[in-house]
Amino acid sequence: MFIGNGRKQRSVLRRRPQTPAEKSISYSSVKYILRNPRLCGYRACIPQELRERSGRVDPVEYLVERTDGTPVVGKWETIFTPEEWRELVNVLDSRKNTGKGRKSGTTVTKRLLTGIARCGNCGAGLVSAMYQHGTPSYEKHGYYYLCKVATGGCGKLSRSGPPVDDHVERVLLDHLRKQTRDMTSTVKEDPELEAAKAKLKQIDSDKVEARQLRADDELSLAEFAREIRRLEVKEQELKESASALFGTPIRTGSTAARVVREWDTYTVDMKRAEITRSLEAVVISRAGKGGAQRGRFRPELLEMVWK
Ligand SMILES: [Zn+2]
Repeated sequence: MFIGNGRKQRSVLRRRPQTPAEKSISYSSVKYILRNPRLCGYRACIPQELRERSGRVDPVEYLVERTDGTPVVGKWETIFTPEEWRELVNVLDSRKNTGKGRKSGTTVTKRLLTGIARCGNCGAGLVSAMYQHGTPSYEKHGYYYLCKVATGGCGKLSRSGPPVDDHVERVLLDHLRKQTRDMTSTVKEDPELEAAKAKLKQIDSDKVEARQLRADDELSLAEFAREIRRLEVKEQELKESASALFGTPIRTGSTAARVVREWDTYTVDMKRAEITRSLEAVVISRAGKGGAQRGRFRPELLEMVWK
């Protein structure tokens, strides 16, 4: 299901009149609209089933991409460049966990691996805390992860934060790069997949055409809906048969490529979402006797649990 219908920008507002005319639009609706990739020309495609199940789904997560991983760009008038829009989303994301609305006294600043990293001793999700100001650890690392009794843990494990974060980021990106490479080599070898991709590309441009016809009023709404539906069914079939043939969803490689490319522009929230897509947990073990050499990072004490 596409967000908006290929007409002018304001159709995003006009099409779903969730706010009665006499009422001002809600804060959350504004935020939702601002997150719409259409504003910078990108397309988003949220699967119908997901939309029905979950209601409002963050369109940022569902950019439509070409098979090479670049975003599909529409031909409508935009109000942001992709860079501006990405910046806007970053700001909105960064506000989620700070400032107003946060209960005073809580330590909910989410670090990259809060809750994802687990204690190797008791299995509890780790929380983060700042080292005490002025200490060498504070100067060097700033924050650390710890297993906390108050949140149901054993209280027996802690680890400096940044080296763990860096390590997990590096391993994840290597993993995604490998996915990208695997995808590319499969593509080169297989004419059948090539053909499927060409057909998918054709469907993309058919959709663009249908939208244009609709915008020019040459298709009735019913005809337009029928045509889009037909193309989506065809698209779904192609993707399913491609996945069945090659064992991986057709988007895997391209999505991985995008994540790798844009990683440095991601907010902590976006990175966390990406990490949890690939990793069940990162289990951190205690250093053991004589192993706790201060200041030395030991990657062998981290275990990645892949999904
Ligand atoms: Zn523990």
